[in-house]
Amino acid sequence: MSERSIPEEFFVEVYSELPQSIVQSRWRDVNVLLRLSMMAGLQMQMDATLGVLCEYAWEIARYDRVLIYFWNEVEEQSRLRDCKSLTPEVKQEYGTGNVLDYWCMKHGKPLLVNSGKHPEVDKLLSAVGASSGVVVPVLVNNRVMGSLQFFSKVSSGFNIEDAQLLWALARVAENLLARERANEGLIHFAFTDHLTGLRSRGYFEQQLELEVKRSERKQVQFVLLMLDIDHFKPLNDTYGHHIGDQVLREVGRILMEDMREVDTVARYGGEEFVIILPETTEDEGYAVAQRIRKAVEETGFAIYFPDSAEVSVTEKLSISIGLSFFDSNIKNKRELVEFADAALYAAKSKGRNAVLKYRDVAAQKRAKEAS
Ligand code: GH3
Ligand code: MG
Ligand code: MG
Repeated sequence: MSERSIPEEFFVEVYSELPQSIVQSRWRDVNVLLRLSMMAGLQMQMDATLGVLCEYAWEIARYDRVLIYFWNEVEEQSRLRDCKSLTPEVKQEYGTGNVLDYWCMKHGKPLLVNSGKHPEVDKLLSAVGASSGVVVPVLVNNRVMGSLQFFSKVSSGFNIEDAQLLWALARVAENLLARERANEGLIHFAFTDHLTGLRSRGYFEQQLELEVKRSERKQVQFVLLMLDIDHFKPLNDTYGHHIGDQVLREVGRILMEDMREVDTVARYGGEEFVIILPETTEDEGYAVAQRIRKAVEETGFAIYFPDSAEVSVTEKLSISIGLSFFDSNIKNKRELVEFADAALYAAKSKGRNAVLKYRDVAAQKRAKEAS
Protein backbone atom coordinates (compact mmCIF):
# COMPACT_ATOMS: atom_id res chain seq x y z
CA MET A 1 0.00 0.00 0.00
CA SER A 2 1.94 2.98 -1.17
CA GLU A 3 1.72 6.43 0.34
CA ARG A 4 1.51 8.17 -3.03
CA SER A 5 -1.78 6.48 -3.84
CA ILE A 6 -3.80 8.22 -1.08
CA PRO A 7 -6.49 10.43 -2.59
CA GLU A 8 -6.27 13.66 -0.55
CA GLU A 9 -10.00 14.19 -0.85
CA PHE A 10 -10.58 11.24 1.50
CA PHE A 11 -9.08 13.08 4.48
CA VAL A 12 -11.36 15.13 6.73
CA GLU A 13 -10.14 18.11 8.77
CA VAL A 14 -11.71 18.02 12.23
CA TYR A 15 -11.61 20.28 15.26
CA SER A 16 -10.80 19.34 18.82
CA GLU A 17 -14.01 21.11 19.91
CA LEU A 18 -17.30 20.48 18.18
CA PRO A 19 -18.25 23.45 15.95
CA GLN A 20 -21.28 25.41 17.15
CA SER A 21 -23.21 24.55 13.99
CA ILE A 22 -22.96 20.81 14.75
CA VAL A 23 -23.90 21.23 18.41
CA GLN A 24 -27.06 23.13 17.43
CA SER A 25 -28.19 21.02 14.53
CA ARG A 26 -27.34 17.63 16.01
CA TRP A 27 -28.01 18.04 19.71
CA ARG A 28 -29.28 14.46 20.01
CA ASP A 29 -25.99 13.13 18.67
CA VAL A 30 -23.97 15.31 21.03
CA ASN A 31 -25.99 13.78 23.87
CA VAL A 32 -24.70 10.38 22.83
CA LEU A 33 -21.17 11.64 23.51
CA LEU A 34 -22.21 12.86 26.95
CA ARG A 35 -23.70 9.45 27.75
CA LEU A 36 -20.50 7.77 26.68
CA SER A 37 -18.38 10.07 28.84
CA MET A 38 -20.49 9.07 31.87
CA MET A 39 -19.36 5.47 31.45
CA ALA A 40 -15.80 6.42 32.35
CA GLY A 41 -16.10 4.90 35.84
CA LEU A 42 -17.47 1.54 34.72
CA GLN A 43 -15.38 -1.61 34.61
CA MET A 44 -15.98 -3.61 31.48
CA GLN A 45 -14.25 -6.11 29.30
CA MET A 46 -12.78 -4.69 26.11
CA ASP A 47 -15.31 -6.41 23.87
CA ALA A 48 -18.19 -5.01 25.90
CA THR A 49 -16.69 -1.51 25.71
CA LEU A 50 -16.31 -1.82 21.96
CA GLY A 51 -19.89 -3.09 21.73
CA VAL A 52 -21.23 0.00 23.51
CA LEU A 53 -19.03 2.23 21.38
CA CYS A 54 -20.48 0.72 18.20
CA GLU A 55 -24.04 1.09 19.51
CA TYR A 56 -23.48 4.78 20.24
CA ALA A 57 -21.76 5.28 16.91
CA TRP A 58 -24.85 3.83 15.23
CA GLU A 59 -27.03 6.46 16.90
CA ILE A 60 -24.81 9.11 15.31
CA ALA A 61 -24.35 7.60 11.85
CA ARG A 62 -26.47 4.69 10.65
CA TYR A 63 -23.94 2.25 9.31
CA ASP A 64 -24.42 -1.29 7.95
CA ARG A 65 -21.01 -2.78 8.74
CA VAL A 66 -18.23 -2.09 11.18
CA LEU A 67 -14.57 -3.12 11.33
CA ILE A 68 -12.39 -2.36 14.35
CA TYR A 69 -8.62 -2.65 14.21
CA PHE A 70 -6.17 -2.50 17.09
CA TRP A 71 -2.44 -2.38 16.82
CA ASN A 72 -0.90 -5.50 18.36
CA GLU A 73 2.35 -4.52 20.08
CA VAL A 74 3.72 -8.05 20.17
CA GLU A 75 3.00 -8.98 16.56
CA GLU A 76 3.67 -5.42 15.40
CA GLN A 77 0.68 -5.43 13.12
CA SER A 78 -2.98 -4.47 13.18
CA ARG A 79 -5.57 -7.03 14.22
CA LEU A 80 -9.25 -7.11 13.45
CA ARG A 81 -11.21 -6.94 16.72
CA ASP A 82 -14.90 -6.99 16.10
CA CYS A 83 -15.75 -9.32 13.29
CA LYS A 84 -19.37 -10.30 13.84
CA SER A 85 -21.33 -10.67 10.61
CA LEU A 86 -18.24 -10.88 8.43
CA THR A 87 -17.60 -13.81 6.10
CA PRO A 88 -14.56 -16.02 6.86
CA GLU A 89 -13.02 -14.85 3.55
CA VAL A 90 -13.17 -11.19 4.61
CA LYS A 91 -11.80 -12.04 8.06
CA GLN A 92 -8.96 -13.92 6.40
CA GLU A 93 -8.12 -11.25 3.83
CA TYR A 94 -8.43 -8.25 6.14
CA GLY A 95 -7.54 -9.88 9.47
CA THR A 96 -4.34 -7.89 9.82
CA GLY A 97 -5.43 -4.50 8.57
CA ASN A 98 -6.69 -2.92 5.36
CA VAL A 99 -5.84 0.11 3.30
CA LEU A 100 -8.03 2.44 5.39
CA ASP A 101 -6.49 1.23 8.64
CA TYR A 102 -3.05 1.81 7.12
CA TRP A 103 -3.81 5.38 6.05
CA CYS A 104 -5.61 6.17 9.28
CA MET A 105 -2.78 4.81 11.45
CA LYS A 106 -0.20 6.69 9.40
CA HIS A 107 -1.88 10.08 9.40
CA GLY A 108 -4.06 9.98 12.51
CA LYS A 109 -6.93 11.64 10.62
CA PRO A 110 -10.51 10.63 9.87
CA LEU A 111 -11.36 9.53 6.35
CA LEU A 112 -14.55 9.74 4.32
CA VAL A 113 -14.45 7.29 1.45
CA ASN A 114 -16.69 6.60 -1.52
CA SER A 115 -16.52 3.98 -4.22
CA GLY A 116 -15.15 4.73 -7.66
CA LYS A 117 -12.08 6.71 -6.54
CA HIS A 118 -9.43 4.16 -5.65
CA PRO A 119 -9.09 0.48 -6.68
CA GLU A 120 -8.01 -0.86 -3.29
CA VAL A 121 -10.77 1.03 -1.46
CA ASP A 122 -13.28 -0.27 -4.02
CA LYS A 123 -12.10 -3.84 -3.43
CA LEU A 124 -12.56 -3.42 0.32
CA LEU A 125 -15.96 -1.75 -0.02
CA SER A 126 -17.20 -4.53 -2.24
CA ALA A 127 -15.84 -7.21 0.15
CA VAL A 128 -17.91 -5.78 3.01
CA GLY A 129 -20.88 -5.09 0.72
CA ALA A 130 -20.70 -1.30 1.05
CA SER A 131 -20.50 1.80 -1.14
CA SER A 132 -19.11 4.34 1.32
CA GLY A 133 -17.36 4.51 4.66
CA VAL A 134 -16.14 6.74 7.46
CA VAL A 135 -12.99 5.88 9.43
CA VAL A 136 -11.73 7.47 12.64
CA PRO A 137 -8.45 6.78 14.42
CA VAL A 138 -8.40 5.38 17.96
CA LEU A 139 -5.87 7.29 20.03
CA VAL A 140 -4.45 6.12 23.34
CA ASN A 141 -2.04 8.49 25.10
CA ASN A 142 -1.75 10.49 21.89
CA ARG A 143 -0.69 7.48 19.86
CA VAL A 144 -2.82 6.08 17.08
CA MET A 145 -3.63 2.57 18.27
CA GLY A 146 -6.22 1.51 15.75
CA SER A 147 -9.15 2.51 13.60
CA LEU A 148 -12.94 2.38 13.81
CA GLN A 149 -14.37 1.81 10.36
CA PHE A 150 -18.06 2.25 9.60
CA PHE A 151 -19.54 1.33 6.23
CA SER A 152 -22.82 2.05 4.50
CA LYS A 153 -24.54 0.28 1.64
CA VAL A 154 -25.55 3.59 0.09
CA SER A 155 -23.08 5.84 -1.68
CA SER A 156 -22.10 9.00 0.22
CA GLY A 157 -23.68 7.43 3.30
CA PHE A 158 -21.73 9.75 5.63
CA ASN A 159 -20.88 13.44 5.70
CA ILE A 160 -18.21 15.64 7.29
CA GLU A 161 -20.37 16.23 10.38
CA ASP A 162 -20.60 12.46 10.92
CA ALA A 163 -16.82 12.26 10.72
CA GLN A 164 -16.47 15.11 13.24
CA LEU A 165 -18.92 13.50 15.68
CA LEU A 166 -17.39 10.04 15.38
CA TRP A 167 -13.97 11.58 15.87
CA ALA A 168 -15.27 13.18 19.09
CA LEU A 169 -16.78 9.82 20.10
CA ALA A 170 -13.41 8.12 19.68
CA ARG A 171 -11.77 10.87 21.81
CA VAL A 172 -14.34 10.42 24.59
CA ALA A 173 -13.75 6.65 24.46
CA GLU A 174 -9.99 7.10 24.71
CA ASN A 175 -9.76 6.79 28.51
CA LEU A 176 -12.10 3.84 28.53
CA LEU A 177 -10.09 2.03 25.87
CA ALA A 178 -6.75 2.87 27.48
CA ARG A 179 -7.87 1.28 30.75
CA GLU A 180 -9.35 -1.82 29.13
CA ARG A 181 -6.18 -2.28 27.14
CA ALA A 182 -4.08 -2.06 30.29
CA ASN A 183 -6.38 -4.62 31.97
CA GLU A 184 -6.04 -6.93 29.00
CA GLY A 185 -2.28 -6.66 29.29
CA LEU A 186 -2.48 -7.59 32.98
CA ILE A 187 -4.72 -10.57 32.29
CA HIS A 188 -2.36 -11.76 29.58
CA PHE A 189 0.56 -11.35 31.95
CA ALA A 190 -1.15 -13.33 34.73
CA PHE A 191 -2.29 -16.14 32.47
CA THR A 192 0.92 -16.69 30.53
CA ASP A 193 3.95 -18.65 31.68
CA HIS A 194 6.84 -16.27 31.11
CA LEU A 195 9.41 -18.95 30.26
CA THR A 196 7.53 -21.08 27.73
CA GLY A 197 4.73 -18.77 26.59
CA LEU A 198 2.23 -21.52 27.46
CA ARG A 199 -0.74 -20.91 29.76
CA SER A 200 0.12 -20.39 33.42
CA ARG A 201 -0.89 -22.63 36.30
CA GLY A 202 -3.45 -20.01 37.38
CA TYR A 203 -5.10 -20.16 33.99
CA PHE A 204 -5.11 -23.96 34.08
CA GLU A 205 -6.84 -24.06 37.49
CA GLN A 206 -9.53 -21.69 36.29
CA GLN A 207 -10.00 -23.54 33.01
CA LEU A 208 -10.23 -26.93 34.75
CA GLU A 209 -12.96 -25.60 37.02
CA LEU A 210 -14.90 -24.34 33.99
CA GLU A 211 -14.39 -27.60 32.12
CA VAL A 212 -15.71 -29.68 35.03
CA LYS A 213 -18.86 -27.53 35.20
CA ARG A 214 -19.32 -27.54 31.44
CA SER A 215 -18.86 -31.30 31.15
CA GLU A 216 -21.31 -31.95 34.00
CA ARG A 217 -23.88 -29.74 32.34
CA LYS A 218 -23.41 -31.18 28.86
CA GLN A 219 -22.83 -34.73 30.13
CA VAL A 220 -19.63 -35.14 28.14
CA GLN A 221 -16.23 -36.55 29.05
CA PHE A 222 -12.90 -34.79 28.97
CA VAL A 223 -9.30 -35.83 29.49
CA LEU A 224 -6.56 -34.42 31.69
CA LEU A 225 -2.92 -35.21 30.93
CA MET A 226 -0.11 -34.58 33.39
CA LEU A 227 3.39 -34.68 31.91
CA ASP A 228 6.84 -34.65 33.47
CA ILE A 229 10.20 -34.63 31.68
CA ASP A 230 12.28 -37.70 32.51
CA HIS A 231 15.70 -37.20 34.10
CA PHE A 232 15.68 -33.47 33.59
CA LYS A 233 17.93 -32.75 36.53
CA PRO A 234 21.03 -34.36 34.95
CA LEU A 235 20.54 -32.15 31.87
CA ASN A 236 20.49 -29.06 34.08
CA ASP A 237 23.50 -30.29 36.01
CA THR A 238 25.48 -30.94 32.80
CA TYR A 239 24.70 -27.79 30.84
CA GLY A 240 23.37 -25.33 33.40
CA HIS A 241 19.95 -23.82 34.09
CA HIS A 242 20.04 -21.52 31.11
CA ILE A 243 20.30 -24.42 28.66
CA GLY A 244 17.65 -26.28 30.69
CA ASP A 245 15.35 -23.31 30.05
CA GLN A 246 15.98 -23.53 26.29
CA VAL A 247 14.93 -27.18 26.36
CA LEU A 248 11.81 -26.41 28.42
CA ARG A 249 10.75 -23.88 25.79
CA GLU A 250 11.31 -26.42 23.04
CA VAL A 251 9.25 -29.06 24.88
CA GLY A 252 6.50 -26.46 25.28
CA ARG A 253 6.54 -25.87 21.54
CA ILE A 254 6.20 -29.61 20.84
CA LEU A 255 3.24 -29.84 23.22
CA MET A 256 1.46 -27.07 21.35
CA GLU A 257 1.85 -28.78 17.99
CA ASP A 258 -1.38 -30.12 16.50
CA MET A 259 -3.45 -29.02 19.49
CA ARG A 260 -6.98 -27.77 18.94
CA GLU A 261 -7.91 -24.23 19.85
CA VAL A 262 -10.12 -25.55 22.66
CA ASP A 263 -7.30 -27.49 24.32
CA THR A 264 -5.43 -25.93 27.23
CA VAL A 265 -1.67 -26.53 27.40
CA ALA A 266 -0.11 -25.12 30.57
CA ARG A 267 3.08 -25.27 32.57
CA TYR A 268 2.15 -26.71 35.95
CA GLY A 269 5.51 -25.97 37.54
CA GLY A 270 9.20 -26.78 37.03
CA GLU A 271 9.39 -29.35 34.23
CA GLU A 272 5.79 -30.48 34.61
CA PHE A 273 3.00 -29.66 32.19
CA VAL A 274 -0.76 -30.23 32.06
CA ILE A 275 -3.12 -30.50 29.13
CA ILE A 276 -6.93 -30.32 29.19
CA LEU A 277 -8.63 -31.96 26.21
CA PRO A 278 -12.33 -31.00 26.23
CA GLU A 279 -15.00 -33.35 24.85
CA THR A 280 -12.50 -36.16 24.46
CA THR A 281 -12.87 -39.85 25.29
CA GLU A 282 -10.27 -41.78 27.27
CA ASP A 283 -9.04 -43.57 24.13
CA GLU A 284 -8.77 -40.37 22.12
CA GLY A 285 -6.85 -38.74 24.97
CA TYR A 286 -4.56 -41.75 25.18
CA ALA A 287 -3.79 -41.44 21.44
CA VAL A 288 -2.95 -37.74 21.85
CA ALA A 289 -0.68 -38.54 24.81
CA GLN A 290 1.14 -41.23 22.84
CA ARG A 291 1.62 -38.87 19.91
CA ILE A 292 3.18 -36.26 22.22
CA ARG A 293 5.36 -38.85 23.96
CA LYS A 294 6.68 -40.09 20.61
CA ALA A 295 7.25 -36.54 19.30
CA VAL A 296 9.46 -35.74 22.30
CA GLU A 297 11.26 -39.09 22.04
CA GLU A 298 12.05 -38.48 18.37
CA THR A 299 13.27 -34.90 18.79
CA GLY A 300 16.95 -34.10 18.91
CA PHE A 301 17.12 -31.12 21.26
CA ALA A 302 19.76 -28.75 19.93
CA ILE A 303 21.88 -27.29 22.72
CA TYR A 304 23.37 -23.91 21.82
CA PHE A 305 26.11 -22.28 23.81
CA PRO A 306 25.69 -18.59 23.06
CA ASP A 307 28.96 -17.44 24.63
CA SER A 308 31.25 -20.04 23.17
CA ALA A 309 32.54 -21.15 19.80
CA GLU A 310 31.75 -24.74 20.75
CA VAL A 311 29.72 -26.69 18.23
CA SER A 312 26.17 -27.23 19.43
CA VAL A 313 25.17 -30.74 20.42
CA THR A 314 21.84 -32.50 20.40
CA GLU A 315 20.36 -34.31 23.37
CA LYS A 316 17.61 -36.90 23.51
CA LEU A 317 14.83 -36.67 26.08
CA SER A 318 11.66 -38.48 27.03
CA ILE A 319 8.52 -37.66 28.98
CA SER A 320 6.12 -39.64 31.15
CA ILE A 321 2.41 -38.96 31.05
CA GLY A 322 -0.45 -39.71 33.44
CA LEU A 323 -4.02 -39.63 32.13
CA SER A 324 -7.22 -39.19 34.08
CA PHE A 325 -10.58 -38.60 32.59
CA PHE A 326 -13.69 -36.87 33.71
CA ASP A 327 -16.96 -38.76 33.77
CA SER A 328 -19.81 -39.13 36.26
CA ASN A 329 -17.58 -41.09 38.69
CA ILE A 330 -15.27 -38.16 39.34
CA LYS A 331 -16.27 -35.91 42.21
CA ASN A 332 -14.28 -32.73 41.58
CA LYS A 333 -11.31 -31.20 39.82
CA ARG A 334 -8.98 -31.93 42.74
CA GLU A 335 -9.63 -35.65 42.38
CA LEU A 336 -8.99 -35.46 38.65
CA VAL A 337 -5.58 -33.85 39.23
CA GLU A 338 -4.72 -36.39 41.94
CA PHE A 339 -5.60 -39.27 39.63
CA ALA A 340 -3.52 -37.92 36.74
CA ASP A 341 -0.66 -37.38 39.16
CA ALA A 342 -0.95 -40.96 40.48
CA ALA A 343 -0.90 -42.30 36.90
CA LEU A 344 2.16 -40.16 36.14
CA TYR A 345 3.91 -41.50 39.23
CA ALA A 346 3.10 -45.06 38.11
CA ALA A 347 4.51 -44.33 34.61
CA LYS A 348 7.73 -43.15 36.24
CA SER A 349 7.91 -46.31 38.39
CA LYS A 350 7.32 -48.44 35.34
CA GLY A 351 10.50 -47.13 33.75
CA ARG A 352 9.51 -43.72 32.25
CA ASN A 353 8.89 -42.72 28.60
CA ALA A 354 5.36 -44.13 28.99
CA VAL A 355 1.69 -43.13 29.11
CA LEU A 356 -0.52 -44.66 31.79
CA LYS A 357 -4.25 -44.30 32.37
CA TYR A 358 -5.38 -43.87 35.95
CA ARG A 359 -8.12 -46.39 35.36
CA ASP A 360 -5.54 -49.14 34.62
CA VAL A 361 -3.34 -48.09 37.52
CA ALA A 362 -6.32 -48.25 39.93
CA ALA A 363 -7.43 -51.64 38.56
CA GLN A 364 -3.96 -53.08 39.04
CA LYS A 365 -3.85 -51.71 42.56
CA ARG A 366 -7.23 -53.28 43.39
CA ALA A 367 -6.14 -56.64 41.92
CA LYS A 368 -2.96 -56.55 43.99
CA GLU A 369 -4.88 -55.75 47.18
CA ALA A 370 -7.34 -58.56 46.51
CA SER A 371 -4.61 -61.18 46.01
P1 GH3 B 1 12.24 -37.78 36.87
O1 GH3 B 1 11.21 -36.76 36.66
O2 GH3 B 1 12.43 -38.63 35.67
O3 GH3 B 1 12.01 -38.57 38.09
O4 GH3 B 1 13.65 -37.05 37.08
P2 GH3 B 1 13.92 -35.51 37.09
O5 GH3 B 1 15.40 -35.33 37.15
O6 GH3 B 1 13.26 -34.85 35.94
O7 GH3 B 1 13.12 -35.07 38.37
P3 GH3 B 1 13.32 -34.06 39.53
O8 GH3 B 1 11.98 -33.67 40.00
O9 GH3 B 1 14.27 -34.64 40.53
O10 GH3 B 1 14.00 -32.82 38.87
C1 GH3 B 1 13.32 -31.82 38.23
C2 GH3 B 1 14.37 -30.83 37.86
O11 GH3 B 1 13.83 -29.85 36.99
C3 GH3 B 1 14.91 -30.03 39.02
C4 GH3 B 1 15.36 -28.76 38.42
O12 GH3 B 1 16.76 -28.80 38.18
C5 GH3 B 1 14.66 -28.73 37.07
N1 GH3 B 1 13.83 -27.55 36.91
C6 GH3 B 1 12.65 -27.25 37.49
N2 GH3 B 1 12.21 -26.05 37.07
C7 GH3 B 1 13.11 -25.58 36.17
C8 GH3 B 1 13.23 -24.39 35.40
O13 GH3 B 1 12.38 -23.49 35.41
N3 GH3 B 1 14.31 -24.26 34.59
C9 GH3 B 1 15.27 -25.23 34.54
N4 GH3 B 1 16.30 -25.05 33.73
N5 GH3 B 1 15.20 -26.34 35.27
C10 GH3 B 1 14.15 -26.53 36.08
MG1 MG C 1 11.15 -34.90 35.80
MG1 MG D 1 9.14 -33.10 38.24
